[in-house]
Amino acid sequence: MIEIKYVKKEKLFPAFGLADEKKQTVYIRKDLPKKVKDFVLNHELYHLKDFKRLKKKNKKYKIIWGEIKANLLTSITHPIGFLYTVILSLHPIRLKLYIDLYITKKFNHEKFEKQLK
Ligand SMILES: [Zn+2]
Repeated sequence: MIEIKYVKKEKLFPAFGLADEKKQTVYIRKDLPKKVKDFVLNHELYHLKDFKRLKKKNKKYKIIWGEIKANLLTSITHPIGFLYTVILSLHPIRLKLYIDLYITKKFNHEKFEKQLK
């Protein structure tokens, strides 16, 4: 059973949402606009399904490809939320998050996990 938790901005910032595979929990920032929350929720639920599917096939999760699939497929069902999320993601702090996560790989996962506790 998947649990959905709406949390304070400080818990996830600068992220909008998170899919915790071990806890089968999706975290969403409650300060976001409704359309963005709905998009992020479905995006994170896609990740949980994808993790499970790949595990069955014994395949490793490829984060960038996972993000492309989650965004593309969720944008079909939530187009306004997708566009709204893209616009909010143009903020320099969000752009730095993407650079740290996917380019320099300097994202501090430990600090982020502590923040969520
Ligand atoms: Zn994602």
